[in-house]
Amino acid sequence: NAKEQGMELNRYAHAMQMKAQERLQLENDLRKALDRGQFYLVYQPQVNLKSGLIVGMEALVRWQHPLRGSVSPAEFIPLAEESGLIVPLGEWVLREACAQNKRWQEAGYRKLCVSVNLSMRQFRHSHLLDNISGILKETGLEPVWLELEITESMTFDKDRAFEQLRKIKEIGVHISIDDFGTGYSSLHYLKDLPIDRLKIDRSFVNEVMEDSNNAAIVSTITSMAHHLQLKVTAEGVENEDQLSFLRDQHCHEAQGYFFSKPIVAADFEKKFLRDVDK
Ligand code: C2E
Ligand code: CA
Ligand code: CA
Ligand code: CA
Repeated sequence: NAKEQGMELNRYAHAMQMKAQERLQLENDLRKALDRGQFYLVYQPQVNLKSGLIVGMEALVRWQHPLRGSVSPAEFIPLAEESGLIVPLGEWVLREACAQNKRWQEAGYRKLCVSVNLSMRQFRHSHLLDNISGILKETGLEPVWLELEITESMTFDKDRAFEQLRKIKEIGVHISIDDFGTGYSSLHYLKDLPIDRLKIDRSFVNEVMEDSNNAAIVSTITSMAHHLQLKVTAEGVENEDQLSFLRDQHCHEAQGYFFSKPIVAADFEKKFLRDVDK
């Protein structure tokens, strides 16, 4: 009846208001988080399927919230993008990842490439190239040991982003397309974008053994990458069967819980780094 419906509506409005308040609170907390040192990075190994060796690691950001504990980037990256905070946060991530990689190299471990996620919003910021080359100089990391992972989005300002990417590529930094096959990634871009690698989205890899459509998609993307002379990485590998399927497809590299979840630097070092010079 009408009365119940009214109450229902009230509850709904109340819930919406709570949500909006919570969001505002989270956004405020997010703004302070950078100054308060509440962000940290975790690293996930990237494995070459031919040699079995670790060739790189993806750096992923985490937020240690004082009350909520560890907040997922799926929750705060969109907020950071809307509020513009992604620009200073992205710069912090880049600096931290490059500095860590350089420290590991100086400790004498075999050199690895660190992958850092870039938000499209960072491309609209005009100083991206200067920021990147500044951070490389500051940390002393050679550009070839850095890879930037990008995704296309609807608001992708093509001409501008292409120009930025070309300049970034010119200084020797590698570029990969993340979540390939989802969202707005278009084959058209592959022709003109100066990219080195495709990362097959984990939604395809995850059910590659259960669903023949996924198998067809993974094998098509892999073979296309070969034809275009691009490297290809499979994300979200969780078991041996998926891995052997990817090997059969001559996929270059893989990443996923099968090898390791993303872990903090100290654990990554203990578990995965081998010294060659010592
Ligand atoms: P992404 O770049 O696609 O990163 C891969 C995500 O998949 C990570 O989630 C990782 O923990 C998860 N993952 C890896 N292997 C497996 C697996 O075998 N199974 C499953 N189920 N999941 C796996 P995470 O760390 O929660 O990050 C989520 C997203 O947040 C990232 O997706 C990326 O888009 C964004 N993100 C994370 N760190 C940053 C950052 O520093 N900057 C920007 N702009 N975005 C970031
Ligand atoms: Ca990524
Ligand atoms: Ca991805
Ligand atoms: Ca993603």
